[in-house]
Amino acid sequence: MARIAVGGFQHETNTFAPQRATWDDFERADAWPGFVRGAELLDAVHGYNIPIAGAVEALRARGHDLLPLCWCSAPPSAHVERAAYERVAGAILEDLAAQMPVDGVYLDLHGAMVAEHYEDGEGELLRRIRALVGDRVPIVASLDYHTNMTPEMVRHASLMVGYRTYPHIDMAATGGRAALLLDRLLSERRPLYKAYRQLGFLIPLVWQCTGAEPAKGIFALIGEVEQGALSHNQGILSITHTPGFPPADIAECGPALVVYGHDREAAEAAADRLAAAIGEREAAFAGKLYTPEEAVAEALTLARGATKPVVLADIQDNPGAGGTSDTVGLLRALIAQRAQGAVIGMIVDPEAAEAAEAAGEGALLSCGVGAKVGYAGETPVEANWRIVCLGSGRFTGTGPMYGGAKFNIGPMALVIDEDSGVSAVLASKRIQANDKEMFRHVGVEPAQVPILALKSTVHFRADFEPIAERVLCVVSPGAHITDPAELPYRNLRKGIRLNPLGPPRA
Ligand SMILES: [Zn+2]
Repeated sequence: MARIAVGGFQHETNTFAPQRATWDDFERADAWPGFVRGAELLDAVHGYNIPIAGAVEALRARGHDLLPLCWCSAPPSAHVERAAYERVAGAILEDLAAQMPVDGVYLDLHGAMVAEHYEDGEGELLRRIRALVGDRVPIVASLDYHTNMTPEMVRHASLMVGYRTYPHIDMAATGGRAALLLDRLLSERRPLYKAYRQLGFLIPLVWQCTGAEPAKGIFALIGEVEQGALSHNQGILSITHTPGFPPADIAECGPALVVYGHDREAAEAAADRLAAAIGEREAAFAGKLYTPEEAVAEALTLARGATKPVVLADIQDNPGAGGTSDTVGLLRALIAQRAQGAVIGMIVDPEAAEAAEAAGEGALLSCGVGAKVGYAGETPVEANWRIVCLGSGRFTGTGPMYGGAKFNIGPMALVIDEDSGVSAVLASKRIQANDKEMFRHVGVEPAQVPILALKSTVHFRADFEPIAERVLCVVSPGAHITDPAELPYRNLRKGIRLNPLGPPRA
């Protein structure tokens, strides 16, 4: 039995987004628990599909003595404010210091956190933890698929384990894998060699989905190399490939991979093989994108005679990648083409959601819908918005990603424009439309809607693709710019290409 400290600090930073992450954003609950510290942490994360929940379960099953630090996450946004970063990092370091000596440390990290004062939020956190515990204590972290895995992170963590799915349906499972590898490091006490590679091009999120090629094949190959190495006794423990989070203006932005093994040559050879395999598939990170007008016209055609909804993914206004989830380009296109029965969600507009709650079901909404943050220079959509159904914003997720998550996202409402027959689901807090319960909560059964517009890039696929006639990816205004070549980078390292087969950064 070992004494293992467990904690987490998750943020995905889109440095081009309009809203920063404050302490309040980390403190409050959304789909996941709010800031939690000390003894209550272990119960608070139980039952969620998040890495620390899987890690706690696996470490307990091995009989280890768990020392909870703190855990928190905030919705993806621009930089983490300096005060928020120092408050959370300070709590982790203070609680860890109080528990010393420890035998091991497990951390639940996203791996794309940019603080106002640190470009590499996780690299700095890991550096501080390493300085505290010394070189001999293993530090193992789980990482999101969208990690910008930096040399500093690789250097200070003993081992890092990334998700292998996008949509992320293996979050708790990844925490469990990380925990078992920590257990193995503690029992074997053998030095680990790290073979780290950064790849030469950014990959837009929309082409990173593991349900399709080339990501599907790449992760299958990673599994084969890992298993093959095991069966041939090459001493490779684990391989992590992170396709990266492009809208981050930092030097180390982009895809990377790391192979951990006891044998240097075998680890280096596996890293070379996988980097080459990803490079060979560069041209395959591509697909069709629609303008809002094209998408709605196509959806209306497809919906005729279809028994399942046509799903329009509003891929740039994804709050899960820093979008405000309140832009109205796609909503206006639906109304303009009178897409009767279409439903769009979530339009995050606390003012309208609260006004709907105050006015009551059946009343007309007194304000326009969306475009309140003002990111894209749009104006709210004024219409005869009838309030159809109200919701408290408290419900439990049922999909592959959010199953078991206890949502607490403030007042919600379904409103319908009586002229066009287009409806919108209003929400008060930024949350990505990737669980059917978000719609059912306000009386919409997603499978029965002809056209469903979702503010999400890829995650919606886990719960909605099985019920979809077709999925069309739409480029309308939003703070998660899909094509990195459109972003005004200043800090990206020279030479990396801004998209697959794209121009190199000058
Ligand atoms: Zn992610």
